Amino acid sequence: MAVRGHGGRPLVVGTGIAGLYVALRCRELGLRPTLITKARLEEANTRYAQGGIAAAIGPDDSPALHLADTLRAGAGLVDRAAAKVLTYEAPARIADLVRYGVPFDTIEGQIALGREAAHSRARILHAGGDATGLSIEETLKARVLDAGIEVRERTALRGLRSAGREGVTALISGDRGRSVEETEPGTVVLATGGAGSLYRQSSNPSVATGEGVAIAFRAGALLTDMEFIQFHPTVFWREGAPRYLITEAVRGEGAVLRNEAGERFLVGQHRDSELAPRDIVARAVEREIHRSGHPCVYLDATGIPRDRFFARFPSVCRFLATYGLDPSRDWIPVTPVAHYMMGGVTTDLEGRTSLRGLYACGEVASTGVHGANRLASNSLLEGLVFGERVARQLVHPVAGVLPTPGRLVRLAWPTGSGRADLPKVFDRVRDLLWEDVGIVRNGVGLRSALEELAKLAGQTEPTRPSEAPGPVANAVLTASLIARAALTRTESRGAHFRSDFPHRRPAWRLHVGILRKSLPTRGS
Ligand SMILES: Cc1cc2nc3c(=O)[nH]c(=O)nc-3n(C[C@H](O)[C@H](O)[C@H](O)COP(=O)(O)OP(=O)(O)OC[C@H]3O[C@@H](n4cnc5c(N)ncnc54)[C@H](O)[C@@H]3O)c2cc1C
Repeated sequence: MAVRGHGGRPLVVGTGIAGLYVALRCRELGLRPTLITKARLEEANTRYAQGGIAAAIGPDDSPALHLADTLRAGAGLVDRAAAKVLTYEAPARIADLVRYGVPFDTIEGQIALGREAAHSRARILHAGGDATGLSIEETLKARVLDAGIEVRERTALRGLRSAGREGVTALISGDRGRSVEETEPGTVVLATGGAGSLYRQSSNPSVATGEGVAIAFRAGALLTDMEFIQFHPTVFWREGAPRYLITEAVRGEGAVLRNEAGERFLVGQHRDSELAPRDIVARAVEREIHRSGHPCVYLDATGIPRDRFFARFPSVCRFLATYGLDPSRDWIPVTPVAHYMMGGVTTDLEGRTSLRGLYACGEVASTGVHGANRLASNSLLEGLVFGERVARQLVHPVAGVLPTPGRLVRLAWPTGSGRADLPKVFDRVRDLLWEDVGIVRNGVGLRSALEELAKLAGQTEPTRPSEAPGPVANAVLTASLIARAALTRTESRGAHFRSDFPHRRPAWRLHVGILRKSLPTRGS
């Protein structure tokens, strides 16, 4: 079979910013990567990113300031060394994107920089106004195709197995899951993105089901920070409408949040009001919706000059127009939704995981740069910065140290009957996460979600450990990993808020790691 994962031929899984960039850099460094993706090449969270990508390139800015903002947003859990790598290497990675041809917006010949919540400087680069992710995805995709990199669309990673010193083998399936192939042992780079669409209310496209996390866990890889799911406070709300994100940059330009009565309910709750960190704004919006019984709150951008708004946010304006709204005149109805996975597969600074031969970068990885709360526009950047490090590592390996979590949970995972109504189970997972593992959690809800997820696992897991589980079994597992980590952390910190433990506790200034309890002799 054609796909190899070894030596100079790494198998890169996922075609968002992280996967495309790693594959390109591997090729430039003389390797022959193969890229696979379970959907079409361009379908990824990356494509939908609006606000932009952060880098300290402005005259009044510096990587040290970007680092300080990143540390502050992360609520005491950011790994300083990783965040330093992120912020200090950002300008060089932006130069790479420019070299590849990403058309960043400019003002008088200089790259234009926007402002977003919790950034102390204007440092957000954008393209096509609010089409940054689309521009990056399309540009990198074109470069990957120009470089003649082998790409296999509609080809899913189904499982990984450790092959000891030789690395890992991957089980991959194309042809709508009918056939499963096993690669030769070697190097696999996971760039499978986040898990937002496991939640009933989500800004993510349907591919974002956190499968990479489940697959790595099954193979025995260490995961960290799974309890930290970021909820975005301002996604378009209308019955039956898609959950379209209204980027935070809109608030950066001066829009404010109001309740139905027109009151700015965030004023007085935080000194930065609408530009407070995302978790604070998301919880305030959730509380306001709960208190008022009204299904949404409103983003009021009427104070921003019409021309400026339409030039900066053309896609948002086009979307709103389909609902008859003009942001220079109308308030925009918004609600919070699941948005971003801060934790994931634990990596060192070179993208190495705890399994020999397995690397991870982008949203699926837990590099430690986000801590308990990601700073806006640091995620596209993370995919590039650590993608570069993975590519270099494959060519010139250097030693590294994998972070050790302060608390380690060992989770047993059963085999099952392999008999379930899969769409129904998937639907139930989405409801369970939204209701019991959402913006505000508590022990009772988390325990009850875990019990039900265990029953669903009994129906969706294959009968034999040697069989590769399907996407719904992986959804049940990833949901359980989030809920298990959330139950373990008996405090509130960053994006993780427990109504039964509403305060931050110094003793919890540590990371929760999760490992599979016992591996079957032939891991799935
Ligand atoms: C609406 C929206 C707006 C955002 N705005 C911003 C922003 O302005 N700035 C910012 O920094 N971040 C933003 N983000 C977050 C950012 O887009 C993501 O964190 C980032 O794009 C993740 O990139 P990635 O390459 O890790 O994953 P993705 O771009 O999600 O790509 C994952 C890839 O893996 C594939 N895949 C998954 N599972 C498998 C499998 N089992 N087998 C094979 N392939 C698989 C998927 O099909 C996809 O190709 C936004 C996210 C959303 C949803």
